[in-house]
Amino acid sequence: MSSSRKTIALIAHDNKKAEMVGWALRNKETLKKFDLCGTGTTAGLVAEATGLPVKKYLSGPLGGDQQIGAKIAEKKIDIVIFFWDPLSAQPHDPDVKALLRIAVVYDIPIATNKATANCVIASGGYCAE
Ligand code: PGA
Repeated sequence: MSSSRKTIALIAHDNKKAEMVGWALRNKETLKKFDLCGTGTTAGLVAEATGLPVKKYLSGPLGGDQQIGAKIAEKKIDIVIFFWDPLSAQPHDPDVKALLRIAVVYDIPIATNKATANCVIASGGYCAE
């Protein structure tokens, strides 16, 4: 990992928010080493639970996923932890797909479940170039 701090974006669909908060609490010490941001509601919940600063973008359905996608394209976001809900239809499904796509285009780690998020965090960010 380079010496500069890397940025992690946190996003969780409604049915996954409790899982995200629990995961963030368990990994708080590692997350302290990163700059954090996230979609509006997720960012607020994680900031409140952990006490860590989390930059808030818009809520996902209101464009937050697109904002995060744009930051990935600008190379301002290095890692995404995205707990999406595979069992519920999302009104902003096209934005979700676009976010997954842009993360692949820029070859950044995007963890879409807890098991993968654990691997990413265990790497301490080394998995991001
Ligand atoms: P939220 O957005 O954190 O504002 O709820 C997440 C999403 O649904 O993409």
